Amino acid sequence: MEKLIIEARVNEYAMRKRNPHVPWSAEEITQDAIACREAGASILHFHARQVNGAPCHDTQGYADTVAAVREVTDLLIHPTLGANTVEDTPEGRLAHVLEMAKDPRTRPDFAPMDMGSTNIDIYDPKQKRFRTTDQMYINTTETLLYFANALKDAGLKPCAVAWNISYLRQTLLFQEMGALEEPIYLGLTLTEGPIFAGHPASEAGLDAYLNLLPEDVKIAWTVYNYGGNLLKLAEKIITAGGHIAVGLGDHPYTEIGTPTNAELIAKFTAIAASVGREVATPAETRQILGMV
Ligand code: ZN
Repeated sequence: MEKLIIEARVNEYAMRKRNPHVPWSAEEITQDAIACREAGASILHFHARQVNGAPCHDTQGYADTVAAVREVTDLLIHPTLGANTVEDTPEGRLAHVLEMAKDPRTRPDFAPMDMGSTNIDIYDPKQKRFRTTDQMYINTTETLLYFANALKDAGLKPCAVAWNISYLRQTLLFQEMGALEEPIYLGLTLTEGPIFAGHPASEAGLDAYLNLLPEDVKIAWTVYNYGGNLLKLAEKIITAGGHIAVGLGDHPYTEIGTPTNAELIAKFTAIAASVGREVATPAETRQILGMV
């Protein structure tokens, strides 16, 4: 079987109340990246953060982190887009990625494309009510076509992300149109906890995606559990030929002793070894994903 790609999702916008090991600064992310690479990760996904943990939306914050990580590891680098609201323009959301791509020291390898739109309100199960009622994550088809073309022109690999089946269908239409090229690096999002926009993080939730993956399109699929523990599905994903995308950005993992990102990734590497699947190096990941 193809080697296992592990993507370290080190921070998202997670704070440190539940797990103090979430890296924020360029230096913290770099140290974490080195440890994640040793534990088996081949891709680093990060969000630039300010020293107090607040989101950082400026290009310099992203460039500082990419340059620092590039200098000391061979990890493939996958920064997030600058904003995820309707307030920013498609050009504004991608600007930092395209700017960084011009300089080899700060050039990322991937950029994410969430292939649809959804409500992302936070639900409070104790109070039985929504904490917010107007939060939407909007990615119009026009925006996505702009992202696909701009990333292609810049020579970066899109990571197509599905939050549900309609996103998967949109991804396949983009492939049919030639806007996305095979092999598609496809993130399958499961959600637990306060966000209900993804499929449930259960075998059935994952199977709903897998049952609809076409056999005639080359897809390297990876799985996130945003808001919950991915370990419960690890063996199923790894033996089915999928890849793993995991980190403290998605869930603090207090239930297994509040690990660091590297300690968490080592658990997935060990599960892969136990079922006879090796983890891919960054160079092997590049080959699997058709990146030259
Ligand atoms: Zn992210």
